[in-house]
Amino acid sequence: MSWLSEYVRPRIRTLLGQREVPENLWSQCPACQQMIFAKELEKNQKVCPHCGHHMRATALDRLNWTFDDGKYTRIELPKVPADPLTFRDTKRYADRLKEARAKTGLDDALVVAHGLIEGRQAVVAAMAFDFMGGSMGAAVGEGLVAAAKLAVLQDAPLIIYTTSGGARMQEGAVSLMQMPRSVIATLMLKEARLPVLIVLTDPTTGGVTASFAMLGDIHIAEPGALIGFAGARVIEQTVRETLPEGFQRAEYLHDHGIVDMVVKRNEMRATLARVISLLRPVTEAVDVAA
Ligand SMILES: [Zn+2]
Repeated sequence: MSWLSEYVRPRIRTLLGQREVPENLWSQCPACQQMIFAKELEKNQKVCPHCGHHMRATALDRLNWTFDDGKYTRIELPKVPADPLTFRDTKRYADRLKEARAKTGLDDALVVAHGLIEGRQAVVAAMAFDFMGGSMGAAVGEGLVAAAKLAVLQDAPLIIYTTSGGARMQEGAVSLMQMPRSVIATLMLKEARLPVLIVLTDPTTGGVTASFAMLGDIHIAEPGALIGFAGARVIEQTVRETLPEGFQRAEYLHDHGIVDMVVKRNEMRATLARVISLLRPVTEAVDVAA
């Protein structure tokens, strides 16, 4: 919000005339502070053209960028008890949910869709950080199981884009139970001998890192993504040591063998397609009549 809309009285604002420049025409890169034209940023998949900083993306961005021509079919996810503990902190959990739904247009912090990636069938589950910090409650757990069932049904690989602050504390123990629940989702694919590809995006922390996010066949991370269980400050206070530079970042985890690949966003789609083709070679009979 600019000083004009914040501090100038509405009447004076009317005198000054309608705002001609639409809001959000420019964005500022949080890493290099350069101003970027919004359209250019969008075209560049929300990667800063000046310094290459990967900004946070929505779950729907992930689907648009991953599937061929941005075409996919979303599936409806199972309904879960809305507020199992009738939890209240400074606000009622039911109200927080309502707000998050209005803000994002999503039911909860996960969307699941199927479609083609370079001509191959795939199921993609993408978490939404803008929905209550991508926290994992019953809806996310059930959504992951639904995604796994769909992948098995379609004999297709499952790709999961993770971004989360961890468990949804408003659901208490119910949210913790989503850790084993999501593990079951990954096991369903392993039993069906189908690959699970995890794409770790900024930030992936807490109970999500401690469950399905570390159980893929291949772990890919976006550059600079924060990936960890506990926060760096908590660890530092516990071990009483200064943590190394870049700790809990994608590149550091890649150097230490936690992550298989660090892949730039504009190469993600091609990389996913390549990995899928390596893990699932086409077995159709080749016409050798020539
Ligand atoms: Zn930048």
